Amino acid sequence: MAYSYEAPVSQSLFDRASVVTPGGVNSPVRAFRAVGGTPRFMVSGAGPYLTDADGREYVDLVCSWGPMILGHSHPEVIAAVQEAVSRGTSFGTPGEGEVALAEEIVARIEPVEQVRLVSSGTEATMSAMRLARGFTGRAKVVKFAGCYHGHVDALLAAAGSGVATFGLPDTPGVTGATAGDTVVLPYNDLDAVRAAFAAHPGEIACVITEASPGNMGVVPPADGFNAGLKELCAANGALYISDEVMTGFRTSKAGWYGVDGVRPDLMTFGKVMGGGFPAAAFGGRGDVMAHLAPAGPVYQAGTLSGNPIATAAGLAQLRLLDDAAYAKIDAVSAELRSLVGEALTKEGVAHTVSAASNMFSVFFTDRPVRDYEDAKKQDVFRFTAFFHSMLEQGVYLPPSAFESWFVSTAHDERAVERIAAALPAAARAASEATA
Ligand code: PLP
Repeated sequence: MAYSYEAPVSQSLFDRASVVTPGGVNSPVRAFRAVGGTPRFMVSGAGPYLTDADGREYVDLVCSWGPMILGHSHPEVIAAVQEAVSRGTSFGTPGEGEVALAEEIVARIEPVEQVRLVSSGTEATMSAMRLARGFTGRAKVVKFAGCYHGHVDALLAAAGSGVATFGLPDTPGVTGATAGDTVVLPYNDLDAVRAAFAAHPGEIACVITEASPGNMGVVPPADGFNAGLKELCAANGALYISDEVMTGFRTSKAGWYGVDGVRPDLMTFGKVMGGGFPAAAFGGRGDVMAHLAPAGPVYQAGTLSGNPIATAAGLAQLRLLDDAAYAKIDAVSAELRSLVGEALTKEGVAHTVSAASNMFSVFFTDRPVRDYEDAKKQDVFRFTAFFHSMLEQGVYLPPSAFESWFVSTAHDERAVERIAAALPAAARAASEATA
């Protein structure tokens, strides 16, 4: 695909980066390999906008993959960070900021009686899984195809569909032994979960699921799916782990738990709770968390866990996320969903705008999408054309058809108008695209 626009400064930075960093990026999706073209190197962000190294401004619908729920450079978050930095950047001791952040999480999310802070969502899911194994004395973990829980070895086994498939490693470097205790099942299929428990009696430590998946595009749980998981786990002595790294503090004040009310044994958090800094957490039932060192025998630790800058940023952000903030985000999301749907319909492009609360994505198919196999059947080439047209017109979408779009409280009328103005040409580009 040829692009009619250029980003020479980003391209030269990418060339430099590619010499010293594999693929030129520090997280693969940033390299634009799914859509082609030059990844934009951003230099600043303000409200709903990002500015790249070539001086072009974009309306940002990625929001750092979720964290920037108040938009970029929110003055109160920046002030909290500056105040914290002025007192030092890391002590390696307990500090009040981490207590306050833990209290805020426990206050918001009723099933979380205790919480441990870590530095990334990957650490949170890895540690929650270890704790579940330590608590139950069992080895196997059930996960769902299309759900991403960070780059934890055992959870990168997402391959394989069909009922109760043993996980095959998705990537070289994950050994069969590591992935062999992972059972990968199709999403939204309770019968498959029932069959897995029947096939492995007394062996399954936990079922981990994205509370509402956003990593195969947005594919919400079918009615009763999460409740069914919880029930099957309880009946079989396994823990139900709800991964709210993406949905937590975004889909409501209490994340997806605030939407469906299904009570997990353990939960994982990240993104929004760090205010743009590396902070994440796992927490849940007090009797389970009591197994964690130093209270209990399951080891887990981190040099920068509960870092004072990250906790100050996270706390400042969470304290600003009141009912009015969520109402604003929900309204902007609803408006964008209908604008995107109208533009694609007008151009006769088969599509489904799929939403879970204020998270949404567009599948370029009109067939229902209930799991990863369905998601993969969309016309990805249409997304590619749509993406590049939006980018050219100054709207920054996630550079993959399998990612959620994110909005913030900073997405005001002007930002929405800019997106609306870009949609007709992007929809036309999608309609004219060829495989
Ligand atoms: N879990 C979910 C649901 C995620 O979406 C992600 C990241 O996108 C992770 C875990 C991993 O988080 P991190 O990238 O902070 O390691």
